[in-house]
Amino acid sequence: MSVVPEENASLRQLQIFHSKLDEEKDFDKDLLRNVAFLSGEIGELVRVIQDIQKADNVEASRGLKDRLGEELADILAYIY
Ligand SMILES: [Mg+2]
Repeated sequence: MSVVPEENASLRQLQIFHSKLDEEKDFDKDLLRNVAFLSGEIGELVRVIQDIQKADNVEASRGLKDRLGEELADILAYIY
């Protein structure tokens, strides 16, 4: 089983992690479908940014920034 990279992992370490994860989980390797999925994740990122811009208090904004990190991680998973 792939070991989740540490927080300050290098891009190369993340690439290796995702490559192993793809093999383990038998994820789809079709380039066109992966670009389509990446586009969906970019849309999710845009929605979070819009929500952050609309947030009217620090607490709400903090939770949204966690979501922002999750969406950026999703995008990173598709661009290695
Ligand atoms: Mg996502």
